[in-house]
Amino acid sequence: MNDPIEITLAKNKKPKRDPNQLTFGTYFTDHMFMMDYTPENGWHQPRIVPYAPITLDPAAVVFHYGQAVFEGMKAYRTKDDRVLLFRPEKNMKRINLSNERLSIPPVDEAFLVEAIKKLVTIEKDWVPKEPGTSLYIRPFIIGTEPYLGVHPSRTYMFMVILCPVGAYYPEGINPVKIYVESKYVRAVNGGTGHTKTSGNYAASFKAQEEAQRQGCAQVLWLDGVEKAYVEEVGSMNVFFKINGEVVTPALNGSILAGVTRDSVIQLLKNWGIPVTERKISMEEVYQAHAAGTLEEAFGTGTAAVISPIGGLIWKDTEMTINEGKAGALSMKLYDTITGVQNGEIDDPFGWTVEVK
Ligand SMILES: *Cc1c(COP(=O)(O)O)cnc(C)c1O
Repeated sequence: MNDPIEITLAKNKKPKRDPNQLTFGTYFTDHMFMMDYTPENGWHQPRIVPYAPITLDPAAVVFHYGQAVFEGMKAYRTKDDRVLLFRPEKNMKRINLSNERLSIPPVDEAFLVEAIKKLVTIEKDWVPKEPGTSLYIRPFIIGTEPYLGVHPSRTYMFMVILCPVGAYYPEGINPVKIYVESKYVRAVNGGTGHTKTSGNYAASFKAQEEAQRQGCAQVLWLDGVEKAYVEEVGSMNVFFKINGEVVTPALNGSILAGVTRDSVIQLLKNWGIPVTERKISMEEVYQAHAAGTLEEAFGTGTAAVISPIGGLIWKDTEMTINEGKAGALSMKLYDTITGVQNGEIDDPFGWTVEVK
């Protein structure tokens, strides 16, 4: 991409919200990033413009066949007022992985990391400073061609929108209860589970509603074939600590390769804590619980960083983990990753990128 980013600043700035009342994904900043794709010009006309609704033809491919991919990342403000991104190159690499599976033309990863830095620089005042808060960054791509034929769109739009988000744990880390889903599946090998494509999430809502009816916060997904092996928890990766060893499902084609998952694995290895990526069955989790060796369980993802699991409902049994409290390792991982993100502790892996 050689085009310079054209910038049109908003004439009127929106009022900022009370940082203690921020909710996720409802209030957006003053500007957004856009660029277009056509077969003739490739990705072109990158621009930062005032945040506004967009107009699409009702026949656009995205509305009918769901040709869309997205990413989720955050910008964090440090105590000394610097703004940091966390491993943004991983997100742009992953959007191309999703693109490849969804037959969307690849984007220039390095250019887009710079474009996101530029957008966040313009919106710097929107990065909240209260503990635990951040600026959520949502890049996404949609197929825009007005054509009802079942085939990939010829034209696309890439956009980045931003929203300030409040602390995920305003009252301190709170373990959640999880419903092990034995009927619906999220993904199968050969499908799209390893990508962030919109349809995966639409297909998960029904199970999520059922989990909530059971008094649970989230669903634990099992594999789509045998419904025996653990895959993910909600839209997070999942880890178990069993008898001193940390185990997470191996990336098998139906699991999303989380940036937080990768960071957790690197930290554990660095700390000399045994960590294994392998198949893990629900039966094994159940047996470990029965034997008293299931020490901790937690989900990982950009939104919560670490989400300790206090209980699992599987078929007719309810398992309580670590007396329903956040475990020591979960807390250490949470404190370390959020500490690096907020610039409060050393960043030995070079994970953060400053936005200037
Ligand atoms: C986004 C996502 C994750 C977590 O990925 P991070 O990069 O750690 O935020 C895990 N599972 C699913 C299904 C996801 O969509």
